[in-house]
Amino acid sequence: MHSKQIFAMVAAGILSASAAHAQQSAANQVPEIPGLPQAARTAAASIDPEKIRAHVRFLSLDLLEGRGPGQRGAELAAEYIATQFALDGVEPAGDNGTYFQRVPLVAVHTIEDKTRFSFVPADGRQVDLAYGTEIVSKDQTGQAAADLDAPVVFVGYGIHAPEYNWDDYAGPNHTEIDLKGKIALVIVNEPPSEDEKFFKGKALTYYGRWTYKYEEAARRGAVGVLIVHRTDLASYGWEVVRNSQAIEKSYLQGDPNATLRAAAWIQHDVAQRLFTLAGLGNLDQAIDQAGKPGAFHAVELPVRLRAHIESRVRRYVSANVVGRVPGASAAEQTGNQAVLYSAHYDHLGIDPDAKPDANGCGKLDGIYNGAADNGTGCGILLELARAFAQSSQRPPHAVYFASVTAEEQGLLGSQYLGMHPPIPAARIALDLNYDMLLPIGIPRSVSLGGAERMDFWPTVQTVAHAFDLALLPDPTPGAGHYYRSDHFSLARVGIPAFSVDQGELFEGHTPEWGRAQAEDYVDHHYHQPSDEYRSDWDFRGNAKLARFGLVLGWLASSQPTSVEWLSGDEFEAARKASQTK
Ligand SMILES: [Zn+2]
Repeated sequence: MHSKQIFAMVAAGILSASAAHAQQSAANQVPEIPGLPQAARTAAASIDPEKIRAHVRFLSLDLLEGRGPGQRGAELAAEYIATQFALDGVEPAGDNGTYFQRVPLVAVHTIEDKTRFSFVPADGRQVDLAYGTEIVSKDQTGQAAADLDAPVVFVGYGIHAPEYNWDDYAGPNHTEIDLKGKIALVIVNEPPSEDEKFFKGKALTYYGRWTYKYEEAARRGAVGVLIVHRTDLASYGWEVVRNSQAIEKSYLQGDPNATLRAAAWIQHDVAQRLFTLAGLGNLDQAIDQAGKPGAFHAVELPVRLRAHIESRVRRYVSANVVGRVPGASAAEQTGNQAVLYSAHYDHLGIDPDAKPDANGCGKLDGIYNGAADNGTGCGILLELARAFAQSSQRPPHAVYFASVTAEEQGLLGSQYLGMHPPIPAARIALDLNYDMLLPIGIPRSVSLGGAERMDFWPTVQTVAHAFDLALLPDPTPGAGHYYRSDHFSLARVGIPAFSVDQGELFEGHTPEWGRAQAEDYVDHHYHQPSDEYRSDWDFRGNAKLARFGLVLGWLASSQPTSVEWLSGDEFEAARKASQTK
């Protein structure tokens, strides 16, 4: 107790010193940028790293029980965020004049020992599959039990991409193969390419993500999808697939994109067995063939999938917290240049298997505090909201703030927000998302994957340069990071969107130091109960990236026309569709 008090006093001394320093230099930390009014600089300079710290500390307290969606801790977090909005003068922009947008969810857990899958060839004996080691599956419809007996159709990579003149659903006679009531067998990832103009070369497009495969087959009326897992193509082993399926998975209730009775993965060897039953020969050769332009046709196999699936189903509601600051121009009610900031507040809740700790104090510490992930993004979002709301002037158009739920369940809160935006998607010029920014110092580089895909990119480059932030290329384009964060939910309804993330270069340190910090976090704290608030964290970097985002948003709001995707981008069609609604 005593030593703790001393530590607290020392820490407080350090904090107030660093706070004073931060305020002094804040004014100098917002550079002059052409087209940016002085009021915007003042608003950005008001962003206070110690306020971000206070939000992060509160949101990651054990009292909030890991902010699992549908649980008490997440409700407390949502209430806290809404209360901060209210205190700062941010208007409600959720349902019925509140700050809350209700997101109806359904959690599905496959009951392994009551679930059966078999292949039934037209001639020959039924082959039973071992659940877990050979196949894993989820019933996306949220029914407690389902029975399937349907033919399997091999559709290669399961991709229909008109812009690459690619259609895996074309049958041998060039008509689209009928998938209604059937099971699609698909390969993970996308056709291999070195050509930038063909599936973006080495970079992964959304067509390569397993979520796309489920959605596309479901759109075509399939009742099930079997994704063939091969470690080199997936870039992760079967254990990863198996573990991620062993826990419950949530869906939006009534999601038109999630209608599969069996959203399943099968082991490579099992897929080979299926190929042999169907008389199709070598699977790996077929995979090679399916990746070559013009060399593949969808084919129905003389094999049926028979399944009995039982699920434990839990329906629940969580909320996005949505606020708004009106714009200054007369056109703000009708204009199409609103700016949206987003950051998820949910995390993983409490580990149900956590045991009292060994030193006998009896305290459960299976609490996933989620201080960095994503207390930091929430702290930044709240400071942005305060700075805009209290600014002496406002940007021309409205600014929206959405702290979304169920990101860890698969970007579900943001998906719901995209489907039900506070104003039509076509009227939102830009979404800037913040997720997990380790508060370890002042960054000198940023990673803004996706920003280069929009006509706003030259402005982004100018602002980054002015903030002394080097722009980093995506280090692992094949991993498809763009499709794994909340901004993607907004991009898919057409809104130009990207996340503001820091790189590895920090003031006073080598890049190796920054990399070591990031690796240590990923190895020891990421998605673990030890992602806890630390009093020695330095929030000046979070503040810097909040200021950077404020300036970007202000400029997007003030441009003569809205931000748009570059022509030919994969989200351009969604944008155009939203603008004709
Ligand atoms: Zn996370």
